Amino acid sequence: MKRILTLAALALFALAAAAQPDTPVVKYLKGDIRRAAFNTHSYEFEPVKDTPAPKGYKAFYISHYGRHGSRSDWGGPQYKLVRDLLTQAKEQNLLTPAGDSLLKEAALIYELHNGMDGRLTPRGVKEHAQLAERMYNRFPEVFKKGSKHLRAVSSTTPRCIVSMNGFTARLQALQPDLDMDLDTGEKYYAYIARGENSVLTARTNKALADYKKTIQWDNETVYRTLFTDPEAAKKLIPDAWDFQNAIYDCARVSDPFDIPDNMFRYLPFENVVHFHELNFLSAYLNQCDSKLNGEIRMPRSQELVDTLISQADAVIAGKVQKAADLCFGHDWPFLGLVCYLGLEGVSERYTLEEAAANWLPSYYCPFATNLQMIFYRSKKSDDILVKFLMNERETKLPALKAVDGIYYNWNDVKAWCANRIPKTQIVAHRGYWEGNAENSVASFRKAQEFGLWGSEFDIHLTADGVPVIYHDRKIGDLDIQTSNFEEVRANRLANGEHVPTLAEYMAQAARSRECLPVLELKPQTTVEREDELVEKCLQALKPAAPRNVPPEFAAFARRSSEPTKVVFISFSHHICQELAKKAPGYTVQYLNGDLSPAQLHAEGINGIDYHYNVIKNHPEWVKEAHDLGMTVNVWTVNEPADIRAMRDLGVDQITTDKPALAREILWER
Ligand code: MG
Repeated sequence: MKRILTLAALALFALAAAAQPDTPVVKYLKGDIRRAAFNTHSYEFEPVKDTPAPKGYKAFYISHYGRHGSRSDWGGPQYKLVRDLLTQAKEQNLLTPAGDSLLKEAALIYELHNGMDGRLTPRGVKEHAQLAERMYNRFPEVFKKGSKHLRAVSSTTPRCIVSMNGFTARLQALQPDLDMDLDTGEKYYAYIARGENSVLTARTNKALADYKKTIQWDNETVYRTLFTDPEAAKKLIPDAWDFQNAIYDCARVSDPFDIPDNMFRYLPFENVVHFHELNFLSAYLNQCDSKLNGEIRMPRSQELVDTLISQADAVIAGKVQKAADLCFGHDWPFLGLVCYLGLEGVSERYTLEEAAANWLPSYYCPFATNLQMIFYRSKKSDDILVKFLMNERETKLPALKAVDGIYYNWNDVKAWCANRIPKTQIVAHRGYWEGNAENSVASFRKAQEFGLWGSEFDIHLTADGVPVIYHDRKIGDLDIQTSNFEEVRANRLANGEHVPTLAEYMAQAARSRECLPVLELKPQTTVEREDELVEKCLQALKPAAPRNVPPEFAAFARRSSEPTKVVFISFSHHICQELAKKAPGYTVQYLNGDLSPAQLHAEGINGIDYHYNVIKNHPEWVKEAHDLGMTVNVWTVNEPADIRAMRDLGVDQITTDKPALAREILWER
C-alpha cells in the first residue's frame, strides 16, 4: 500500500513538473538556443514598422548609444581546458562521435582567440555598417543633402573605435555630404563607459554564489554524450562543473566568428539554462534597476544621461546644427542608461529569482545593442517629440503618458529624468555602526559595502601629534589631547578594534571610490594645535593607486584623495578657514550653525553642515548656499519626518545613524 502511495505521489509530482509552464526566459531560449550566449550573442534584427509621427512632425536629430559589435572573448584557459581534456580522452579511445566533433570545434575556438582577445570580429564591423544603413534609410529626412554635421565619440577601447569606424564609414558612403567629426579620448570615459562598481560586484557575487547552491546540475548526460566509457572519462575530468562551464564558454563565442553549428548542443538544455542564468544575472544585478542594487547603480548613469540631454538641447535650441550624436561604448553603461530612462521590459525592477524567470538577456543586450532617441519637430508647435528605439524596436517609457502612440514630449522626458534619483545623499554618522562600534574601521567598511555616498568620522590629535579616530575628547578618564598615542592606542572600541588612526581610516577609504570619507576635525585647545591637526589631515590625503581597474581605464580611475572625493567638516571656525585656504577645491562644511552661508562664502568656505533644527529655522539658507555654489549637509537626522523634511528642502546630504531607513525614505517611489 505504502509503495502504491509513493508511486502515486511520484506520478503526481511528475505531472505537476510537466505542467509547469516555461518561463519567458526559457521560451525565449527555446526559440533559438544561441541566445543562451546572452551578451556575446550576435545582433538579431527583425524588420520593424514605424508608428507614423503625429501630423506635421518630422525627424530632425538622432541621439544614438551603441555597444561595440561582435567580438572575440578573453579566451585561453577555458577553451584550452576543453581541447586538452578531450585530446587526452581521444588518446585513450574514449570519445563518441559527438565528443570528437566537440574536440574539433573547441580547438578551432582556441585558435581563433590566439592573440585576439576582446577584438571586434568582421561580423562586428558588419553589424555596425548595417545599423548605420538602416538608420539612414529609415530617417532620410535627418540625413538629407546639404551641409549636415555629425559627431561620433567612442570609448578608447579598440573594439569600440573600430565599431565607430564601421558605422560612420557606411553613413559617409551613403551621404558623402555629411561633415563628420570622430573622436575618442579619456575625457569621454566618464559618460560613455562609466559603470563598474566594486560595492555592487561584491554584493552581486555573494547573491549569485547563494543562488548557484540551489541549482541541480545534470552531469551524467554530458559524460554519456561525449564519452564511450563515462566512468573512465570521470577519472580524466577533475571537476564536471568546470568542464561544462568551459564548454558553455566555447559555445558563447561561436556566433561572433560565424561558426554555423551551435555548440550548446553538447550540453543538456537545463544546464545551458542555468549557465545562462548565472551569466546574465550578474549583469542584471550590477547594471540594472534591480531590487537588490538599483539605488546604488542608478546614480552612476547620471553623467551619461546629462550629456545626452545637453547634446539634444543644444541642437533643439539651434546652438549647433547637427544630424546626430553617436556614442560607441559598452554593455554595462548601456544597460545603466536604458534602466535610468525606465524603458519598458529592460528596466523592470526584479528580485534575482524574478529576473531569472522574466528578464530577456540577449533580447536587451546582445553585441551591438543600441538605443536611438529620434527627435521630431513641427512648424506649428514648440513641442519637441521624441521616440525611443531599443535595438531598433519602438519602445515605451511606461512611467510617462505618450503624446501620441510612442511619441513623448521631450520636456516630460527631461522632467522625469531630473527626478529619477534623489538629490539628497546619505552620510553615515560615525560610520554605519549598527551591529558594530562607532568610529571603527569596520563601521566605515560597512558604509562602503552599503554603497553610501559618504561616511563621517571624528578626528582628535594626541599630545604627541598623531590624528586618531574617536568621538569624545576623553576615553574614560584619559584625555586624548593631553595623552600620548601609545596610551590612547591601548584602548579598544566596543567591537575589539584598537582606537584607529587617521592613516588606517584613509587606507580603508582607498578601498572604495564610491563612498567619500567625511573628516570631522575636532576643535583643539590652542590655535597652534588646530593648525597642526589641519596639516596632519592634509598629509594623510596621499594619492592612493586605483584598484581593480583594467589597465586601459587606469588613467581615468578616480583617486580616493582627490578634491571631489573628500569632505572636511568642523565646529571650529578657525579650522574651516585654514582648510579653505590650504585645500582649495575640497569641500569644507562648517558645523556650528551660527553663520549664514553668505558670511562663510566671503571667507572661501564652501559648505555648511548644520543641525536640522537650524535649517528648519532658516530654510532660506539652503537656497542661499546653493546660489553661492555651496553644499548643504544636515546632522543627525534619524526620524522619518525629519528625513522627509530635509529631503523636501533640497539639502545635498543627510548625516544619519540610520542609513537603511534614510535610503528607503529618499527612494520612496
Ligand atoms: Mg562627528
